Amino acid sequence: MDLGLAGRVAVVTGGSSGIGLATARRFLDDGASVVICGRDRERLDSAVAKLGGGDNLHAEACDVLDPEAVQRLAENTVSRFGKVDILVNNAGQARLSTFASTLDTDWDAELKLKFFSVIHPTRTFLPLLQASDAGAVVVVNSLLARQPEPHMVCTSAARAGVQNLVKSLSVELAPKVRVNSILIGTVNSGQWERRYRERAAPGVTYQEWLAGLAREKHIPLERFGEPEETAAAIVFLASPAAGFITGAALEVAGGVSRFA
Ligand code: NDP
Repeated sequence: MDLGLAGRVAVVTGGSSGIGLATARRFLDDGASVVICGRDRERLDSAVAKLGGGDNLHAEACDVLDPEAVQRLAENTVSRFGKVDILVNNAGQARLSTFASTLDTDWDAELKLKFFSVIHPTRTFLPLLQASDAGAVVVVNSLLARQPEPHMVCTSAARAGVQNLVKSLSVELAPKVRVNSILIGTVNSGQWERRYRERAAPGVTYQEWLAGLAREKHIPLERFGEPEETAAAIVFLASPAAGFITGAALEVAGGVSRFA
């Protein structure tokens, strides 16, 4: 299926690892030019190497919580590629905490990350997206938005708020710009590798550890998702092939949700 991405320009925040990196690769494979950002320069350089460099890729150190850095990212994107058609708001990470263990400073940090990682890039890139004939935003969100977990109270509440924001944006930015989200369950990525290193019992391999978690979580497809499977959903929603879809939330979660 031709998604109509050849010649398009896509910005992927948090494109230096996991889901963002797989999404960047998919856009490149489909003929788009791609901009990735992340805070850590070394991780970005390694991502550029994994993506094979190339004239159609720009990587820039940028914290999406810093509006001036996001503005610079937009200016450099325009200098490099002249336009932007697609924005994927993917940068971020989860916070493990119960209500009792979440301090006010944690709430501040988590709400700021989840909301402003969407607000800053969307606001900054909006005029460019509006100038495109296929402007699209995809927000990488989580099933926690609809199905909170007791050990991720703060992240779950923030995710629910972001989902609400996605719906508002999809109405306010129509008809020029489509806004959709994906709701992820558990996807094998950098954050799970970090948790494995912190928590797994000695002698348990990463794959064994993921398989055990998939059983514990009763995931009907009996495994974690892979970044490439998530990227396929993101790239589809972002593409002209999804031209009549806006305000939608697509689950990429192996069937683990319990709401209809
Ligand atoms: P990774 O840790 O592999 O990737 C996260 C990416 O975001 C990295 O490139 C990281 O780079 C970047 N990033 C984090 N904070 C910022 C920031 N403030 N500004 C710019 N870049 C930033 O994790 P995933 O691929 O799993 O995560 C992608 C998204 O998916 C995240 O928003 C995550 O919360 C969400 N998600 C993932 C799930 C999963 O099971 N994997 C489940 C539900 C949601 P750097 O650290 O160098 O800045």
